[in-house]
Amino acid sequence: MARKFNFSAGPAMLPTEVMERAQAEMLDWNGSGMSVMEMSHRGKEYMSIAAKAEQDLRDVMSIPDNYKVLFLQGGASLQFAMIPLNLLGDKTSADYINTGMWSKKAIAEAKRYCTVNLAGDTSEGGFTSVPTQDELKLNPDAAYVHYTPNETIGGVEFDYIPETGDVPLIADMSSTILSRPIDVSKFAMIYAGAQKNIGPAGLCIVIIRDDLLGKASAQTPAMLNYQTHADNDSMYNTPPTYSWYMAGLVFEWIKKQGGLAAMAEVNQRKSDKLYAAIDASDFYANPVPKANRSWMNVPFTLKDASLDADFLAGATQAGLITLKGHRSVGGMRASIYNAMPEEGVDALVAFMKAFESNQA
Ligand SMILES: *Cc1c(COP(=O)(O)O)cnc(C)c1O
Repeated sequence: MARKFNFSAGPAMLPTEVMERAQAEMLDWNGSGMSVMEMSHRGKEYMSIAAKAEQDLRDVMSIPDNYKVLFLQGGASLQFAMIPLNLLGDKTSADYINTGMWSKKAIAEAKRYCTVNLAGDTSEGGFTSVPTQDELKLNPDAAYVHYTPNETIGGVEFDYIPETGDVPLIADMSSTILSRPIDVSKFAMIYAGAQKNIGPAGLCIVIIRDDLLGKASAQTPAMLNYQTHADNDSMYNTPPTYSWYMAGLVFEWIKKQGGLAAMAEVNQRKSDKLYAAIDASDFYANPVPKANRSWMNVPFTLKDASLDADFLAGATQAGLITLKGHRSVGGMRASIYNAMPEEGVDALVAFMKAFESNQA
């Protein structure tokens, strides 16, 4: 068996240890004689798996007691609609910070429900930076402020948490959750699709402060109402049981590694190495200012784009796969989430150096 270093933006690599554990438990979970996939979500075995996963996430992220943790479906993309449906209340406008492709999608969906005030917008600069706090044009009467702390496609990350006063702050953390410690209490709501840094696809985690519940507009479907899921411990209907279980194994793995502080240390080192390799030569380039460079998604271009295909083919040969950049940015993108071992980044850096010297 030869595992490759997979730089996919998502679904992404999972820790080998986690998959080996899942493999060992595949046919018979803990003496139950059942696979987790075959369990009733209301049975005591599965209930214990679900509760442990939630508790481990609460421990890992130090989630305060006045926040609910919901295990939902529909991906982060469904949140783009659920947020305005649930959180506008009697307000008619919401603030959005537009820093890339994912912000744009959230904005497009919100416009079906409310007036969107662009509190910040870096589209003119080609989404290569983030607005500073001073540049934000926040509306004190907004229902909430939505932003994307890490733009997965542009590889652009906020280096600060926007200060929004009494207006609830909502973050799409799909590609940065669990990459480092964060202060959950600074946010009214955090959400993340699982397939980047949490587990397999099919699960979306929502961390929401209690006081935001119960304000959904009257026509909100029950399945799209946070209150429904909060009232039923995310078991109003059949949840994505296996993805939830796998996420639980990942949370346990993070704990074992030393928690989010340990994750942050490795992630910073991994991204430093990769950006250093990009900056060390004019053969490679990344347009993002240092302070806003993503730890998780590292896009880079080759000086001569006609070499892209050779680069990708050579990388694949070397066991470094899925490095092709998003079509809107071109070039390459290395997504280096928690499960990407440091050796994977070292191998990529070595390949980049060798590829460059072969061109000379
Ligand atoms: C991947 C991603 C999404 C979309 O997630 P889905 O689960 O596919 O809906 C949304 N926002 C960000 C920041 C992402 O990285």
